[in-house]
Amino acid sequence: MQRFTYEAAPMRVVFGDGTLAALGAEVERLGLRRAVLVVTPSQAARGAALAAQLGPLAAGVIPLAAMHTPVEVTEQALALLRAMGGDGLVAVGGGSAIGLSKALALRSGLKQIAVPTTYAGSEMTPILGQTEAGRKLALRSAAVLPQVVIYDVALTLGLPPALSATSGLNAMAHAVEALYAPDANPVTSLMAEEAIRALAAALPAVVAEPGDRAARAEALQGAWLAGACLGAVTVSLHHKLCHVLGGSFGLPHAETHAAVLPWAVQFNAPAAPAAMARIARALGQADAVEGLFALSRRLGAPASLAALGLAESDLDRAAEIATAAPYPNPRPVERAAIRALLGAALRGR
Ligand code: NAD
Repeated sequence: MQRFTYEAAPMRVVFGDGTLAALGAEVERLGLRRAVLVVTPSQAARGAALAAQLGPLAAGVIPLAAMHTPVEVTEQALALLRAMGGDGLVAVGGGSAIGLSKALALRSGLKQIAVPTTYAGSEMTPILGQTEAGRKLALRSAAVLPQVVIYDVALTLGLPPALSATSGLNAMAHAVEALYAPDANPVTSLMAEEAIRALAAALPAVVAEPGDRAARAEALQGAWLAGACLGAVTVSLHHKLCHVLGGSFGLPHAETHAAVLPWAVQFNAPAAPAAMARIARALGQADAVEGLFALSRRLGAPASLAALGLAESDLDRAAEIATAAPYPNPRPVERAAIRALLGAALRGR
């Protein structure tokens, strides 16, 4: 008999096409009167338009969110939040906007509404990764979990095909690692398998036709379920490697997940046959590893870490950081084997 502990995240999820129209009602439902919008610099205009939509319920926009949540940016944003007299946070964007909102919630105790526009899944997790002095440290706290998540399919229609592909594979990675997590349980495994199925079915259609609303809806549902998996279980080697490559080598988040995923799964495959069978079934392929390589190729995702800026001379240090502290993984993690894995991912197939 399998023993497990499962904690469901208590947030409210509003899902649909055009659901952003409900933002004002959701802000009021949380009792907020001076909500502050948190976006990346490239989404500043969208933030301003939403502030206008909220009218007197909005206190301003903080368009400072950056990849990997640098602590200096959070401190600057916190000063702005206080100056604006904000009493709640509305993050609109990908994992970067949601990460800054989580960092602000941790420091201020304010409630959050997350409106994701990528497939990264941060909105569903009590995890916050912050970067300081070249190191990215992750924490888990209920204090960073948004109270409300609004998924609006319409907001994802403008996500460029390349980012849709890599962000979708980022989501897929959460679901894949959930299937061999040490604390996997029947609920997360069901969510994971359905996430992999939905993402594998929808992403090729999304990349071929970014305006395909049915495919976008299926991809976003897959991303939601994958994010819920990430929030509920302990992830392993794949996430550790991406965390190191992003935090210590500045590699871009979603692209790195896309380039590493098949290699990390190939490494773990001999030690996790039951998970591999479920991944293969969800992909509709005979083999999990080959299925992931094929999907990645079909989506035109980056095929090597070299293409993302990693150098051969970085491999020793990356392997050293990735194996410095122990963490759960189906196959034992040794420095030489991890260096070989990273070398293969650096060169690509
Ligand atoms: P991102 O949020 O950095 O977005 C990438 C770029 O795309 C940004 O310039 C953004 O403005 C733009 N963008 C976002 N949505 C768009 C849309 N619909 N149309 C056009 N442009 C759009 O990238 P991401 O991959 O979503 O998030 C990466 C960050 O999230 C990393 O820092 C990562 O560590 C974090 N993350 C955290 C968790 C967690 O659980 N804590 C989970 C996943 C990712």
